[in-house]
Amino acid sequence: MTEKKTTERKDIAAGKACRKLMADHFYELDEAARTGSRKIAWCTSVGPAELLRGMGFLVYFPENHGAMLGATRMSTDLIPYANALGYSPDICSYLTCDVGAYIRKETPLTRAYNIESVPKPDVLVFNTNQCRDVQDWFAWYSRELSVPLLGVHTHRDIGGIRDYVIADIASQIRDLTPLLEEATGETFDMDRFREAVGYSSRTSELWRACLESAAATPSPWSFFDATILMGPAVVARGTREAVDFYEVLLAELKQRVEDGTAAVPGEKHRIYWEGMPIWGKLRALSDQLLSLGTCVVASTYCNSWIFDQLDPDNPFESMGRAYTELFIVRDEPYKEKYIKDCHDLFRFDGIIFHDAKTCPNNSNNRYGMPERLSAKLDIPALTINGDLCDLRCYSEEQAKTNIEAFIEQLEER
Ligand code: SF4
Repeated sequence: MTEKKTTERKDIAAGKACRKLMADHFYELDEAARTGSRKIAWCTSVGPAELLRGMGFLVYFPENHGAMLGATRMSTDLIPYANALGYSPDICSYLTCDVGAYIRKETPLTRAYNIESVPKPDVLVFNTNQCRDVQDWFAWYSRELSVPLLGVHTHRDIGGIRDYVIADIASQIRDLTPLLEEATGETFDMDRFREAVGYSSRTSELWRACLESAAATPSPWSFFDATILMGPAVVARGTREAVDFYEVLLAELKQRVEDGTAAVPGEKHRIYWEGMPIWGKLRALSDQLLSLGTCVVASTYCNSWIFDQLDPDNPFESMGRAYTELFIVRDEPYKEKYIKDCHDLFRFDGIIFHDAKTCPNNSNNRYGMPERLSAKLDIPALTINGDLCDLRCYSEEQAKTNIEAFIEQLEER
């Protein structure tokens, strides 16, 4: 049997600044929604947030709300309300729990921030780069709230990215401008747009450096820390506040590396997490892996908010490129090469694939990738079945046993 250890973790101090930034983000949106002081755009998580900020909108991200519903375990009970409207239990559980929350007039924002409801949008803007579900999700709100729905339609499952693809996406983003002017009543301001792209670019640079600090042995933080501390990279990209936050976080992580402060004291094994987080079980998984001396040092999910391509001197084209060259948009050979490169950098000993029942887009185990990567990298891979928000799809006991056996397998090697 694997020897279990009782270990103490040292919390990441920047967590406090992260909580404040997230609280301020929601308070600002809430005030704008109540007073009408600023227009509000809803945006998909890898949608054209910089353009929306450049147009003067405050930006709200429903996927972040979905993650909060999952993390607070409110989601599982809310999903059936969307199912009753004809939205299948098999489609994105962010969508179904968020729509269910709207119908039930419930939100985790109430308990966390004393905010009664999510902010009402003036416009809804999606990008199908991640999946079609976001379009259908926003279309539901568009009908329900009589709010304009705009979108970018991205080419998907591609390997090499040709220039015509980038030109297409850049012009789709550019074409949003007059429609957004109508929604906001303001004229497009190129300087403000460039500034937002510049902040996003710097945020991305810092976020990459934070993630890459986990290449150190022992790793100063884990996937479970990063899933929480990535909040500002999602909801505040394109702002000065996000840049300031990641400067603080990076300095702390560098210090932890220098001091040898480990996310998992006595780190014995390093693994890669492929796929969505299981939001309602982050703590339990983190504790189990901690007790097994195992640190999740890298993940596709947290890496998905690195946008190296953003360039304020070339804002439309660079956004077109940044939001097309994403992992989720690409074909299997690209994804395998990407994870191999991560393996070279982070030197992990195994991969856990999360097969999320309601997100085929972020479940990469279904076409033989674990077997191929396992052979190519000569490391074991484990698939666990679960879901991002629907805990009815997750057997905790089974996952626990499988993870324990997996770590034993690593020990034997
Ligand atoms: S990528 Fe997956 S989790 Fe994200 S919105 Fe689409 S279906 Fe939902």
